[in-house]
Amino acid sequence: MQKDEFSDVCTCETCLLDIASYSLNRLPTGYVASHQGEILIRIREFETQLKVDAISTITEAIKTVSQNPRH
Ligand SMILES: [Zn+2]
Repeated sequence: MQKDEFSDVCTCETCLLDIASYSLNRLPTGYVASHQGEILIRIREFETQLKVDAISTITEAIKTVSQNPRH
């Protein structure tokens, strides 16, 4: 992914949780965390560690949330 593409994406907790929820609904259950704090940690792990399919899912999530922020 290109960094510039996400330079204006909001990274507040609301948007991060929306991105997490969107992603986790589409990823295998092994990625799902039950607590919000864990989800936020996992989002940060996603940025550097996850496989291509997860990255593409998260990329889609970021695009979707950033186009329709809840605030
Ligand atoms: Zn936000």
